[in-house]
Amino acid sequence: MSARLLVTDDNPLNVKLLSAKLAREYYTVVTAENGVQAVEKSVTEKPDLILLDVMMPEMDGFEACRQIKANPATQGIPVVMVTALSDVQDRVRGLDAGADDFLTKPINDVALMARVRSCLRLKSLMDEWRMREGNGAMMADIDEESMRSGQIILLDDAPHEQDIIRKHIHHAGMICHGISSSAEIEPLLERERIHAIMLNLNLQSEEGLRVCANLKANEATRYVPIVVYADESELGKIAKALDIGANDYIFKPVDPHELQARLKTQIKHKRTYDRLRLSYEKNMTMAVTDPLTGVHNRHYMEKNLPRLFDRSKANRKPISVVMLDIDHFKKINDTYGHHVGDQVLQELVRRLNASMRFFDLVIRLGGEEFSVIMPETPYGAAMSAGERLRAAVANSPFVIAEPKLEINVTMSVGIAGSDDGQETSEILFRKADAALYKAKETGRNKVVGDKEV
Ligand code: GH3
Ligand code: MG
Ligand code: MG
Repeated sequence: MSARLLVTDDNPLNVKLLSAKLAREYYTVVTAENGVQAVEKSVTEKPDLILLDVMMPEMDGFEACRQIKANPATQGIPVVMVTALSDVQDRVRGLDAGADDFLTKPINDVALMARVRSCLRLKSLMDEWRMREGNGAMMADIDEESMRSGQIILLDDAPHEQDIIRKHIHHAGMICHGISSSAEIEPLLERERIHAIMLNLNLQSEEGLRVCANLKANEATRYVPIVVYADESELGKIAKALDIGANDYIFKPVDPHELQARLKTQIKHKRTYDRLRLSYEKNMTMAVTDPLTGVHNRHYMEKNLPRLFDRSKANRKPISVVMLDIDHFKKINDTYGHHVGDQVLQELVRRLNASMRFFDLVIRLGGEEFSVIMPETPYGAAMSAGERLRAAVANSPFVIAEPKLEINVTMSVGIAGSDDGQETSEILFRKADAALYKAKETGRNKVVGDKEV
């Protein structure tokens, strides 16, 4: 589906012109005649991007922008201010109102499309994380202070020029790491928490566009915003940089206020992005990990088992399933209490982990029942591994710290394997379960394979 753009201008001719340009690029265009309408339509039309004229009667673009950015339902929509004035103060006001970008009239087609594309890219990235995260971590709640206190890498191999811009960045209260070669970027990213990279598009000893492309291609640097700068006459080159993935640009000579406003916006985006990613990763880990023992839970297994089994099947590689269950665990709980039972489970997992290969996957199925998936392991090898696990548990008593105790623990093990990888996971699990049942029935503390059932 094509992106939906909301174009706002009090002059019908401007709306028509801009709409036509955007429609030619296959965007869906919705229009508004004034600020009040723009605020309304930002909610009802759910646009992916809003273009806002600055000077409009009743409510001007700044106020409309402020209201859009204050509403949690719309604050994730990028806003580009369109202004007739080339006055820097005006641009800065727009960015301070929360605008993500601005364009000057008369609108240059290259600049328009470059801005629109880079804003839409940002939006889809943010949307993706917001969706995965399940709730709206918000841009607006990143305060002024943390926006300012960003760290910037400045890549410019002309010492004098680097010096001037570095002073501007310092003056804005940000930390600036001035460097003269792109090779210095990655080591810096490993050491410092970097929020944006400023890049001179006209480096002497490297190709600026190439540097930009490499940064966006590399997993370690991909999500750090890039702001490029060049002369106004090089708009074509700037447009290419934005196409490759640069997030913003600024003309030379660099105006300190504009620089500060643009960097603040990028720091805000980076912090939002980092926050979304972190909470996503935390949620993911919590959802698939058993809090008591730290191993994966049933949820994780359901998500990942098909992948493991599909791979074995496609490559005709063996795969085995081990089911294990502590013997008379209820008695341990009844005798010593639940708290001791919990520690037994933790120690069990420690022993399992210590006696398994790296690729084997332990899953707590529930209670005192676990399964170990062994990829690339034929039935015979899984039987030996199962015996090793059984012995690791039974051969020495479990030492409990609180209260101080030693408990003899045993477990029963059932195993099923598919040497050519063609068996389904359902069948293997059912067979391993039947084998475990037989181990319980025939005396416990033993390993039974499905061939013996
Ligand atoms: P069997 O040898 O036949 O497996 O007997 P069992 O007592 O081990 O098996 P049963 O399924 O009857 O009892 C399992 C017990 O595990 C009952 C339940 O209260 C306890 N349990 C389940 N989850 C936990 C847990 O997280 N912590 C503790 N401490 N106990 C748990
Ligand atoms: Mg049991
Ligand atoms: Mg049980």
